[in-house]
Amino acid sequence: MTPQERHERLWALDLKHVWHPFTQMQLWPGDEPLIIERGEGNWLIDTLGRRYLDGISSLWVTVHGHRKAPLDEALKAQVDKLAHSTLLGAANVPAIELAAKLAELAPPGLSKVFYSDSGSTAVEVALKMAYQYWRQVGRPQKRRFAALEESYHGDTLGAVSVGGIELFHQRFQDLVFDVLRLPSPHRYRWKGGADVLKEALAQAEALLAAHAHELAALVVEPLVQGAAGMWMHPEGFLSGLRALCRKHEVLLICDEVATGFGRTGTMFAVEQEDVAPDFLCVAKGLTGGYLPLAATLTTPQVFDAFLGSAKDAKTFFHGHTYTGNPLACAVALRNLELFEEEQTLAKLKPVVETLAVGLRPLTGHPHVGDVRRRGLMVGVELVQDKAKRLDYPAEERMGMQVCRKARERGVLLRPLGNVLVLMPPLSLTLDEAELLTRAVRESIDAVCGR
Ligand SMILES: *Cc1c(COP(=O)(O)O)cnc(C)c1O
Repeated sequence: MTPQERHERLWALDLKHVWHPFTQMQLWPGDEPLIIERGEGNWLIDTLGRRYLDGISSLWVTVHGHRKAPLDEALKAQVDKLAHSTLLGAANVPAIELAAKLAELAPPGLSKVFYSDSGSTAVEVALKMAYQYWRQVGRPQKRRFAALEESYHGDTLGAVSVGGIELFHQRFQDLVFDVLRLPSPHRYRWKGGADVLKEALAQAEALLAAHAHELAALVVEPLVQGAAGMWMHPEGFLSGLRALCRKHEVLLICDEVATGFGRTGTMFAVEQEDVAPDFLCVAKGLTGGYLPLAATLTTPQVFDAFLGSAKDAKTFFHGHTYTGNPLACAVALRNLELFEEEQTLAKLKPVVETLAVGLRPLTGHPHVGDVRRRGLMVGVELVQDKAKRLDYPAEERMGMQVCRKARERGVLLRPLGNVLVLMPPLSLTLDEAELLTRAVRESIDAVCGR
C-alpha cells in the first residue's frame, strides 16, 4: 500500500466511525484531510510526511515538545514495572512522588493532592469538596457557587454549571445548577467605564457581600480566560478576589488547567499576584502532553474537615477508576523535573520577546481589533470593523479560514471563533517563534485583506 492509499483508507474509516469533539460533522473536515502520525520536538508529521509547527501545543498540553527523550524514557521505564494499580486501598510509587512534587511547586498551603483524569474532573472534585466542606463545618447553607462571565471549566455537568460561554453552555441550562455571575474584567469587551479593575472588583465585592451566607466558593481561571478567547484580566484582579473571598469566607478555586506549568511565564499563574487559593486545579500540561492526568490540590484546613470515624460518613465519596495512574504520574513527575533541569522558565524570556516582536505589526492591521498576550498565551482578535469593534459574522468562520491558510504555511492552529489562538510549547525556538508569527501575519492578510 502506498502512503497515499493508506492515508485514504484511514480517512474513509475516520469518516465512517469517528465523531470529533466540538465539531460540526456535516462540515467535516472542511479542509484537506489531516491525519497526524508522528511528533518531533515542536513539530507534527502527518501520514503523508508533511510537517507542521504545533502552534497550539496539541490543544494546550505539550510543554517540552513531542517525543521528548527524558519523557519517553520515564514512560518506558514505568511500563516495565507497572501500568496500573488502584489508589483505592493501596498507594503506588509514582503517585506518591508526584503528589510530593506538586505540593512542593504549588503556592504555600496546598499540600493535599487528589488525582483525577481531566481538567473537567479536577474542577468537579473542587466543587464537590467545597460543597461538602461547608456541610461538615456546620454551615450547610453555604452551598452556591460564583464564577466569571465567559468562563470555561470543562464539559462535564458540574463544570458546565460554572461555565459561562453561551454557545457551549446555554442549551444545557435545565441540567445544571444555578451560579452567581461576576463580570469579567476583559478590557477589550468591557461595557463599563475606564477603570476596569476598580469597577470589576466593586461588582465582585457587592455580589460576595450580598451572598456570603450562601456562597461555598468562587471559581476563576487566574489571569487568562483561555476558552473565552484568551481574555486577560488586569493586574490586581486576582489578588483583589483573593482578599474578597477571605473577607467574606468564600473558598477560592483557581482553575489552572490552561494556565498551569509555565504557559503564562511562571509555573502557575497565581504566583504573579502572590495568591494561594483554597483549591488549585491542574491538568492539560501536567504530563507534558503525554497522558490524561489531573489533580486538585487543597489545604489541610479543607482536608481536615473530611476526617472522622466511619460512622460520621465524612469521607469524600468520589474517585475515578484510573485515579493516580502510574504511567501518567511517572511521566508527569519527569515533566516537572525537567523544568528545573533545563531551566525551562528562565529560557522562556527570549522566546516570549520574539513572539511579542512578531505580533507587534498586527496591532496596526485594519482587521485585527486586539492582540493580547500573557507569556506564551496569545489571542489575536479579528474584526470586520476595527473602529466599531464589530465582529465578523460567525458563519464566515474567519478564524477557521486564517488557520487554513496557516496550515498551507506549515503551521497548525485552532481558533476560538474570531480569535486566533497561539499557545506554542515552552520548548519553542526563536526561529520557530518567527515562523509562527510570520505565518499568522501572512494568513490574516491573505484572508482579511489589508
Ligand atoms: C481545557 C480546560 C478545562 C477542561 O479540561 P479537560 O481536560 O478538557 O476536561 C477546564 N478548565 C480550563 C481553564 C481549561 O482550559
